[in-house]
Amino acid sequence: MTPSTGKKVLILGGSRGIGAALVRRFSRDGAQVTFTFVHSHESADRLARETSSTALRLDSADRTALIGAIAKSGPFEVLVVNAGVLGAGDPLTMNPDDIDRLFQINIHAPYHAAVESARQMPEGGRIIFIGSTNADRTPMTGLAAYGTSKAALKGMAKGLARDFGPRGITVNVVQPGPTDTDMNPAEGPLKDLMHSFMAIKRHTLDDEVAAMVAWLAGPEAAMVTGAAMSIDGGFAA
Ligand code: NDP
Repeated sequence: MTPSTGKKVLILGGSRGIGAALVRRFSRDGAQVTFTFVHSHESADRLARETSSTALRLDSADRTALIGAIAKSGPFEVLVVNAGVLGAGDPLTMNPDDIDRLFQINIHAPYHAAVESARQMPEGGRIIFIGSTNADRTPMTGLAAYGTSKAALKGMAKGLARDFGPRGITVNVVQPGPTDTDMNPAEGPLKDLMHSFMAIKRHTLDDEVAAMVAWLAGPEAAMVTGAAMSIDGGFAA
């Protein structure tokens, strides 16, 4: 038995990377996991089979579908909003449609998913956003839109923590630093530059992020709310 045993957990964006590590962690801990994906059909199917979880094709940018799916498949005791996209580039030449889509996935979707989940969420539920250390420190060019989106999650968590606190529901942000996934491979071309900003010079493992989320989802974290917890090897220190 673990604190997650028997809980219904929804992970937005679970087919790869940190999201897949979250699916594995919560499934191993005995939770009943549903996760969403968009493009990675094969990995999603494989992961669902491996972990006896449920994979749902759902684009976080589609607000109506997102709200409808949560209303239909809830109540969930734990919501983790992991789905996120990285758009990097010169703000003067980036396509404004791409920026708006980034904001839809990284900001609008967490808000609507959190509110819709909270409607049915039982007392003591957990809402966890996967933010980024770039909310606190962006020491490279080209990351303004991404950093903006991750900083927005901090304000969102603080506000919703107040709204849902009377029901014992906590709302927090977990802020990874460079983490070894398709988005940011440990052996990628920016490795040395990113490590130069860190106190501990290596990429975080997706399982290490999942462990922090699992703790926040458990009873020991009942009084942690409205917080942003970094797991970034000191990137923002
Ligand atoms: P990946 O790109 O490796 O994986 C992203 C996951 O999100 C995939 O499962 C993808 O599904 C899903 N996803 C993307 N867009 C959507 C969408 N519109 N609707 C539903 N699901 C979607 O990313 P990471 O695992 O690296 O990142 C996960 C989170 O952690 C993100 O929010 C990211 O910003 C954050 N983060 C990552 C860091 C890193 O260094 N890796 C550092 C700091 C924060 P599919 O492939 O099926 O489309």
